[in-house]
Amino acid sequence: MSEGLFPGIQGAADCAGWADEAWVLMERLFPVCRSITGDGVRETLAAVGERLPLQMHEVPSGLPVFDWVVPQEWNVREAWIKDPAGNKVVDLSQHTLHLMSYSTPVHAHMTLAELRPHLHSLPDHPEWIPYRTSYYREAWGFCLPHRQLESLPDGTYEVFIDSTLTPGHLTYAECVVAGRSEQEFLVFTHVCHPGLCNDNLTGIAVATALAAELMRGAPPRLTYRFVFAPGTIGSITWLARNESRLGQVRNGLVIGLLGDRGPLTYKRSRREDAGIDRLAEYLLPRIAPGSRLIPFSPYGYDERQLCSPGFNLPVGRLTRTPNNEYPQYHSSADNFDLIDRQALAESMAACAALLRAADREACYVNLNPKCEPMLGKRGLYRPTGGGHPGAFEHALLWVLNQSDGQRSLLQIAQRAELPFDTVADAAQALERVGLLQLRED
Ligand code: ZN
Repeated sequence: MSEGLFPGIQGAADCAGWADEAWVLMERLFPVCRSITGDGVRETLAAVGERLPLQMHEVPSGLPVFDWVVPQEWNVREAWIKDPAGNKVVDLSQHTLHLMSYSTPVHAHMTLAELRPHLHSLPDHPEWIPYRTSYYREAWGFCLPHRQLESLPDGTYEVFIDSTLTPGHLTYAECVVAGRSEQEFLVFTHVCHPGLCNDNLTGIAVATALAAELMRGAPPRLTYRFVFAPGTIGSITWLARNESRLGQVRNGLVIGLLGDRGPLTYKRSRREDAGIDRLAEYLLPRIAPGSRLIPFSPYGYDERQLCSPGFNLPVGRLTRTPNNEYPQYHSSADNFDLIDRQALAESMAACAALLRAADREACYVNLNPKCEPMLGKRGLYRPTGGGHPGAFEHALLWVLNQSDGQRSLLQIAQRAELPFDTVADAAQALERVGLLQLRED
């Protein structure tokens, strides 16, 4: 078995237990009424915090963050519509998607014609409830199945939303697994969606599983920073508060949408050939046959901010089917029926493989470059000559020959057509006997 992070995780089958634990966390989080601020985010992070040591951050409303401002905090206790007969026909307590996120408070009686502009539905999917938000424009609204909307009788409706939009805080959390180096691997996931499963509970659950496993294992080389923050405004706020230390981010992944049955999809960083891009290109076809690599685009999740030109961080994005590319996206059909445990486990294995490889990927310098060193006397070569050397012995020779401080282990693995972990194991063995030195950069 190779060395490095997540020992024993080679594929989806090895992550079945993680996926089961993730499922439990997702079931717990599904009914929580999340938004970009408020107690739903805190409750979500508290549940993650039972599994991980989290640093909580509360950033006050009104704080300027680049071109944006941390918004008012939104909380809601109750929201419903009563039909002319007094029956609650739409009720937040039945599904968190029924209320448009950030709805302002209201208590009024109105005709169906007056109510109609505040009702959102999906005519193409008449049984599903859409997900709608109004973060930056004060408004209120309800979401309901189109079939139900069409059947509402004329008459006077009572509308009640007991919400507050007040100066408060934006909440996010970090889990830091310290490594030997201050250079960081950043894992970013959003935590702002209410009753939706693939987007974004799978991201939260996968990040939680990875961080928990990392904490249990031997200390990594890189430092791993997991950020659980609301989408867009959360990453903007995080960037504003961490600008001075962004140079430490050596690699990163935005993760989400990791449980549907579509193929794993890696979206390159804006740099297109950052270390994480090259690792994903090499590893994903091996871990997850059928996976796809797509180019960078300035649309999607928090890579929009992390890869904005002023930062241009080496951060890619891993999803299965990307946002907006499956019909259930941002609707009540993004529920547990959409999630496949095997797909979730495969996503976890892919993340683990990427983190493990990123932790090992480096350039080394051969400290004995004049002729081959004698490996036998260092216990690294078979005592009996004449036979054909195995993959590990080939890897030793390749690493020694190519380690001029310029070629990385991944480049060596590709050139030698040897598995990355075999090459990394060889480098580790050579480093241990003093023949190889890590080139710090
Ligand atoms: Zn979303």
